[in-house]
Amino acid sequence: MFITTLLRLTISLVFLLSISACQQATPSYKTAIFSFGTLIQVEVSDVNESQAQKIFKAIEDDLKRMHVLWHPWQSGPMGRTNSLCGMAGTFSAPTSVIPLVIKAKQLAIQSEHLFNPAIGNLVKLWGFQQDSFDKNTPPADDKIQALLKANPRMTDITIKGVRFTCRNPAVRIDLGGIAKGYALEKIIDNLKQNFQVKNIMISAGGDLKAIGRHGERPWVIGIRDPLATDKQTAIATVKAKSGDSVFTSGSYERYYLANNKRIHHIIDPRSGYPAKGSLSVTVIHPDATTADAAATALFVAGPNQWIKLANKMGIKYVLLIDDKNNIHVTQAMLDRVEFIKEPKSLFVVWP
Ligand code: AMP
Ligand code: MG
Repeated sequence: MFITTLLRLTISLVFLLSISACQQATPSYKTAIFSFGTLIQVEVSDVNESQAQKIFKAIEDDLKRMHVLWHPWQSGPMGRTNSLCGMAGTFSAPTSVIPLVIKAKQLAIQSEHLFNPAIGNLVKLWGFQQDSFDKNTPPADDKIQALLKANPRMTDITIKGVRFTCRNPAVRIDLGGIAKGYALEKIIDNLKQNFQVKNIMISAGGDLKAIGRHGERPWVIGIRDPLATDKQTAIATVKAKSGDSVFTSGSYERYYLANNKRIHHIIDPRSGYPAKGSLSVTVIHPDATTADAAATALFVAGPNQWIKLANKMGIKYVLLIDDKNNIHVTQAMLDRVEFIKEPKSLFVVWP
C-alpha cells in the first residue's frame, strides 16, 4: 500500500518523489551544497543543463557570501556589529547586515521576544556558537543568571538609516534562528529575477521553500519524526503550494548529552535554559524569514502558550510535537498534512 511504502521516508522525500516525476515527463536537476552548517539541497525543473549549472553556481555564491556576512562571532560585518554593540553607543553598521537586523527586530517584537536573537551571549555560553559541540558541558547557573539579568533584547538597538544605537552592552545578535529563512528568500528572489526560475525547491537541512510545481506533481515535504533514532523517519507529509516555506525547529537538530539529558540549542530567553515542553515545531508561511523565526518562537512558547503567540504572529499553519509525543496542530495545518502513522494523540485548534 502507498502509505506503508511511505513509512520510512527520508527527509529528502521531496527529492525521491520528484525523481519519479522527472522520469515520467519533466527534466529536473539537483545539487547539494554544504553551507550554514548544514546540507543545502536544490532541485530545479523546466530548465536545461547549462541553465541549471548557472543557477547552482549563483546559489552557492550567495550562500558563501551570506554565511560570511552574518556569522555572529567571526570578524565579518555581523561580528563587527556585535563587537561595537558590546561597547554600547552609536555607530555606523555595515549596510550588508541592516535589512536582516531590522527584520529580526520586527519578528522579535511580534514574538514577544521569545524569538530573541539578541541572546547571542547565552547561545555562546551553552556552547552552540561552534559547529561541533558534542564535548560541551552545561554552563554554571550563576553565569546564566548574570546574562539573564542583563536582559538583552532587540529593542535595545535603535536603527536610523545606517546608524545603530546600542543601549545594552550585553546584546550580541545571533541570527541562527532566522538566517536560513532570510537566505532562502533572498536566493529565490534573485533566481526569479535574474534567471526566470519558475519551479524550484531549496531545502536547508529540511527547512525549505518551494516555488511552482514539479511537473504534474506539487512538491511533497516530509515532516520529520523527532523521536526516530535514525533521524530520518517522517511522521507526515505536506503538499507544498507554490511559495510555501516549511520550517521546523527541533531539539534533535543540535544538541549534546549531559547526565543523559539532551541539552539542545533553542534557548528560552525567560529562563536562560534550553526551552522545555516541545520536541519540534513545524510552520508553513509564504515568507521564509517569518516561518523560520516563528518556528523558533513557537518552540520556546511550548505546548501551553503557542496558540496565543501563533495568533499574534499571524501564523496559520502549525504542527507542534510536545515532549510527551502528543501532536498539537491548527485545523488549517491538519487539513494539509497526511499522517504516515496514526498519531498517539492529537490536539486540534481552530483555525
Ligand atoms: P532554529 O533552528 O531556526 O530554531 O534556530 C536555532 C538557533 O537560533 C540556535 O542554534 C541559536 O543560534 C539561535 N537561538 C537559540 N535560541 C533562540 C531564541 N530564543 N531566539 C532566537 N534565536 C535563538
Ligand atoms: Mg528558526
